Amino acid sequence: EQSYLTVRDLTVSFPTADGVVRAVQGLSYSVPLGRTLAIVGESGSGKSVSSMAIMGLHDPKSTRMTGSIQLGGHEIVGMSQPELRRHRGSAASMIFQDPQSSLHPYFTVGDQIVEAYRAHHNVSKRVARERAVEMLGRVGIPSPRRRLDDHPHQFSGGMRQRAMIAMALVNDPKLLIADEPTTALDVTVQAQILDLIMDLQRDFGSAVLFITHDLGVVAEIADEVLVMYGGRAVEYGRVDAILGRPLHPYTWGLLESIPAVSGEPTRLHPIPGLPPSLLALPTGCAFHPRCEFPDRVPGTGACAAELPELVSRTADTARQSRCHLHRPDQIFEAEILPRLP
Ligand code: SF4
Ligand code: MG
Repeated sequence: EQSYLTVRDLTVSFPTADGVVRAVQGLSYSVPLGRTLAIVGESGSGKSVSSMAIMGLHDPKSTRMTGSIQLGGHEIVGMSQPELRRHRGSAASMIFQDPQSSLHPYFTVGDQIVEAYRAHHNVSKRVARERAVEMLGRVGIPSPRRRLDDHPHQFSGGMRQRAMIAMALVNDPKLLIADEPTTALDVTVQAQILDLIMDLQRDFGSAVLFITHDLGVVAEIADEVLVMYGGRAVEYGRVDAILGRPLHPYTWGLLESIPAVSGEPTRLHPIPGLPPSLLALPTGCAFHPRCEFPDRVPGTGACAAELPELVSRTADTARQSRCHLHRPDQIFEAEILPRLP
């Protein structure tokens, strides 16, 4: 299938007074229409950075970008922001953790959806209001016509999230970027919003880029997964392969830290240590200060000295991992699997 979004060897950095923040290095991925790629990592892993660049939400003065981002056939890297907005048009839209970042508190929900629609469609307010009613209904807001003239604060948290999704989808974007959209919600509402996003994706056939720190959410929603650490991809492939038989010790750590079945007291094993600063990444494999396995790698100190390449090590050439271990599959089978909840 043809990819709608293709990122190739993307590097994004921010020179600052304290040094260069290497937010993303050598990142490549693609998302075809109708599929969902989840980008997973802890905060500060660089997982939001490529999506901010796609949306033109980075600061062009302080950002250095190389590599390529193709969105629906247009190269985005190197475009000015007005040019980017024009080319992107309604092709991509984004939903966030906090609806406040897209819904303005002073204006009614209906007016904001109407404005978003009319920015890309030459139609009367009346026609746009009908479209807004349709979209609010589509995202599961009861009595949408009556809610049109409410302000965002008159909606519950989950309903605000739905209204934001309605606004993001009003122009039928081919790419939807969702950055931790359910993180602030309680478990029930979170499940409803994930279902809604999957439903809408089926109906609209859009490509979805879903950014999260939560592998539980990934299992629900993704077709492909890209795990990021220290600004680099460390593991990439189909969701069943990555969650069923991960080959990277960082992914093992993430799996071990998923809360067990909800309701049960969790057997949570957080990964010891802290994510690295993107200002001062560790040498070699950025994960080595937190990794349990460097002494299994032949040759002393290889993990701290040499950056492993992202390569495929199985018959499934689409799946890739970045680690010096020779048989990570055997370690996973013998030592990690028995520990998982
Ligand atoms: Fe751990 Fe070494 Fe693999 Fe990095 S390269 S994940 S430090 S074993
Ligand atoms: Mg983020």
